[in-house]
Amino acid sequence: MTEEVPLAIWQRIADANIRVLRIPTPFQVGRVNCYLIEDEPLTLIDPGPNSGKALVELERQMGALGHEPEDVGLLIITHQHIDHLGLADIVAKRSGAEVAAIDAVVPFVENFGDDAERDDEEAAALMLRHGISDEVVTALRQVTGSFRAWGSKTQVTRPLHDGEMLELEDRTLEVQHRPGHSPSDTLFWDAERRILFAADHLIKHISSNPLISRPLDGSSERTQALVTYLESLKKTRELPAEIVLSGHGEPITDHAALIDLRFAMHQRRAEKLYGLIAEQPRTGHELAQALWGDVAVTQAFLTLSEVIGHVDLLVNARHVREVDDGQVLRYEATSDTSADRLGDLIPGGNPTLARG
Ligand SMILES: [Zn+2]
Repeated sequence: MTEEVPLAIWQRIADANIRVLRIPTPFQVGRVNCYLIEDEPLTLIDPGPNSGKALVELERQMGALGHEPEDVGLLIITHQHIDHLGLADIVAKRSGAEVAAIDAVVPFVENFGDDAERDDEEAAALMLRHGISDEVVTALRQVTGSFRAWGSKTQVTRPLHDGEMLELEDRTLEVQHRPGHSPSDTLFWDAERRILFAADHLIKHISSNPLISRPLDGSSERTQALVTYLESLKKTRELPAEIVLSGHGEPITDHAALIDLRFAMHQRRAEKLYGLIAEQPRTGHELAQALWGDVAVTQAFLTLSEVIGHVDLLVNARHVREVDDGQVLRYEATSDTSADRLGDLIPGGNPTLARG
């Protein structure tokens, strides 16, 4: 999956009047891909994070193409993460563009940051329940708080519905709500050109973390982010896409094979976690440390999300159960099945590759 993207693919992207803007972010993931579609209206898919540096780059890269942020007529938000949506309000105010986002995320975008305290409290409670220490949780809350400034709230003037057709003069984009990486992940499918705008739902060089996130409907029950994500991936696998344009990294030209690799990786990771749980009952944090060592401390929420997502697969298949001692949750195996005999943990997810 590291081969270079053929020139013919870049040509097709250019012929579709799609321009890739690579906007810097302060995050480990590096630059975010924003897509400018030279159509009527001039459409920008994700503006990038809310920083002066990102805005200067957006202006410079648009300028090199003969445009400026003021020209944008339609601004599309692919999902709720700050590296993608932060500049939305500035671009919308300067251009008067319509702002489009999936209906379910509208309250989140319009009230961005207002629920921050509640988000933090719930994340902290979750981390404590899964065995992360008080000190680490407190330190992480400060980091999360300082990151929030890269986001911003904005008014969504064009709520989108799953399955809706978004019409531009030269193309039609089908709106596909595919939650998992975040609850609001939205894909835009150009069936005629077989080009899919996938944002962070599918990325060539890294697997998309199914981050634990508060449900958008305001309920407090935890959703199974990885399970949701895998269901979404199965739908994407069925699309006859020839080019997938992601939120980070290079275009994908063989998305079905890439998705199969992801299914295999998630199956293997769940099997590995099962092996650790079968040795002895462990908390989510202990499992994260066993897999990732110190990274499990500095990236506690991310690694915990990974662990919980995979253990959800094991719990759903009844190989593992949660045991609550009143303070923390531990996972324990329900039988003495060996890790390589768990069977397909991702129904419909092409298990044969996992052992190959
Ligand atoms: Zn994201």
